[in-house]
Amino acid sequence: MGIFDSIVIGAGQAGLSASYHLQRLGIRHLVLDADSKPGGAWQHRWDALTMTDVHGVAELPGSTPPPRDAQRANRAVPASFAAYERQHGLPIVRPVRVDRVTDDDGILVVHAGERTWRTRTIVNATGTWTHPFLPHYPGMETFVGEQLHTVDYPGPEHFRGKRVLIVGGGASAVQFLGALAPLTDTIWATRREPVWRTDDFTPEAGAAAVALVERRVAQGLPPESVVSVTGLMLRAQEREAERLGAYAARRAMFSRIEPDGVRWADGSFEPVDVILWATGFRPAVSHLAPLHLRSAAGGIRLERNGRGTTAVADPRVQLVGYGPSASTIGANRAGRTAAKGVQRELARIAESVPG
Ligand code: FAD
Repeated sequence: MGIFDSIVIGAGQAGLSASYHLQRLGIRHLVLDADSKPGGAWQHRWDALTMTDVHGVAELPGSTPPPRDAQRANRAVPASFAAYERQHGLPIVRPVRVDRVTDDDGILVVHAGERTWRTRTIVNATGTWTHPFLPHYPGMETFVGEQLHTVDYPGPEHFRGKRVLIVGGGASAVQFLGALAPLTDTIWATRREPVWRTDDFTPEAGAAAVALVERRVAQGLPPESVVSVTGLMLRAQEREAERLGAYAARRAMFSRIEPDGVRWADGSFEPVDVILWATGFRPAVSHLAPLHLRSAAGGIRLERNGRGTTAVADPRVQLVGYGPSASTIGANRAGRTAAKGVQRELARIAESVPG
């Protein structure tokens, strides 16, 4: 197989966009994807999530996104990704879960179990879905009811007749309350006061949210998700839950978890059957640990004050769908920036080879 010019890790929106642009630049590459089918994280979203529920899925370069209709998002987006992969003949190998990337005297070695690939550069596009974040609360392990994270959400019917505590202040929690409050008892707890947005989501508001994440990445801090800083908005399908008071009854976080419920900071007790942790995700980058990309502040610094995709600590590595580009629009654009970054790095490597 020899040495590739680039290996893209992950074939979600960000990885497909990067592969498309690498191909256009004539860069010999491979895409390794952990899933057995096309669709990135979208194939794992719950069945009740339709294309009208999602915030908006940006188009892949040179294509149009699936329509905003009643189709299931976990079918419509994977089908459009699959068609895109075929149409452009993208060089994707799956399922391959990369567990480590190491450095062998200037050449990057991508490992998946016993299998290895050698490459001059990598584009990391592994998203966040495989790294759900679960905060720790005292007594958590003593709870006898059910604890689920967003990744496990089985759809609303599962919760009928159960008292459900939904934890988290992001879009997922708002959507879960919208679906569950009309069916069953819900309680909502968030760490911070939610920021509600009543205006339409303007391009300026989107740009401001991205800028906020860029500032964190520029300081080498772990990024927050772009979607989590865009503010919350109630849609038509959440109006019934609002009328029932599900959002107004929000509480600040509990102080501990007990076998049958949670204890609030004021000492009162709340019995619950289920705790649904809508507490988000973290970037899935642990396989990059051998390259020591993290700053002392815990994040990976990217060039151009967080607006680029090149890792400051190692310019052979591009990160797409990370920090400011962790939304479908951002991931798409970052694919082009990353391909150019790879091209630049390959030119630099070629110049540095003697003779
Ligand atoms: P992913 O789609 O997660 O793709 C990553 C790929 O990498 C996967 O195919 C995975 O198999 C692969 N992978 C992971 N680890 C490895 C590994 N070690 N080795 C090999 N392959 C690996 N954003 C929006 O802009 N609009 C929305 O409406 C929206 N709705 C959302 C709803 C929910 C419930 C959630 C959780 C997120 C939502 N987001 C939304 C954020 C969204 O996830 C991203 O915008 C976008 O889908 C991420 O694309 P990606 O290519 O970076 O990652």
